[in-house]
Amino acid sequence: MPVETTGILEVMPVGRFAPSPTGRLHLGNLRTAVLAWLYARSDESPFLLRFEDLDTAAVRAEHYRTQADDLAALGLDWDEPTISQSDHLDRYRDALDRLRSADLVYPCFCSRREIREAASAPNRSHAGHHYPGTCADLDTAQRARRSEDRPAALRVRADGIRVGVIDELLGPIAIELDDFVVQRNDGTPAYHLAVVVDDAAQSVEEVVRGADLAESACRQLLLYELLDLTPRPRYVHVPLMLAANGDRLAKRHGAVSLDDRRRRGETAAEVLAFLASTIGLADPGEPITTAELRARFDRDRFREQVDRSPTLLPDDFLT
Ligand code: GLU
Repeated sequence: MPVETTGILEVMPVGRFAPSPTGRLHLGNLRTAVLAWLYARSDESPFLLRFEDLDTAAVRAEHYRTQADDLAALGLDWDEPTISQSDHLDRYRDALDRLRSADLVYPCFCSRREIREAASAPNRSHAGHHYPGTCADLDTAQRARRSEDRPAALRVRADGIRVGVIDELLGPIAIELDDFVVQRNDGTPAYHLAVVVDDAAQSVEEVVRGADLAESACRQLLLYELLDLTPRPRYVHVPLMLAANGDRLAKRHGAVSLDDRRRRGETAAEVLAFLASTIGLADPGEPITTAELRARFDRDRFREQVDRSPTLLPDDFLT
């Protein structure tokens, strides 16, 4: 059957899961990974694993392995190459150079405290954590003076532009962008920059990740535009799994990792079945494998039926 190229791209988007190897994956991370895998593999699409390890202070060497092992124990597989961002610093430098030569970035010397204070000043229209543009128009002499106090981060000139994306589950998301950081003041490429450069370099066409990153898609889309990168991915921001009080899952909540669950006597298969049951992909208590989930997963049905609100894990489940 003849198939148009665009048709192939539509049905075979490259997917990925991009954890930061800073600790064991928790149940919420694992459920997101299962969903990312299902979106890709139910279409027989490539699925990649990428370690987002640029925050070297937070990375722990053993967690590249524990994270990959835990994903494999659930029955997930991925295509080669598995990459680590720290092996591709040149890519981010190139992208930053391009932004610099097009005058799309500027050095920012503000401390967190200065930003907080400036953003909450009564005459400012930007509220909350939005960067109010303090360093946007410094002249050369002012920059030289401020660089004596502290090294500069680099911010992109977004100028309050409104950017929107259509999320597969959440629908339209649009925000006004502040001038966000693309290189930290220790020289590390910032998350938004690295993720966009890598997703484009790896031809990622569908980004499935936690709903806490939904607004990030707007910042990232601006970078695709400014760097003229393709393919622009489709976004699927999936519900989070949280502690009973709405906090992000963390060690202090109890048995949050696959390792913890095993110590409580559960098998990886039981954990998978539990995760699937929390998003309506299996009945409570029904044994299920990733192969069965893959055969059963239908993105349209999932979009119609999934509860978009976060899954709250009761305290007695975790302790
Ligand atoms: N590294 C991010 C995390 O662990 C995910 C980034 C992404 O999927 O775009 O939350």
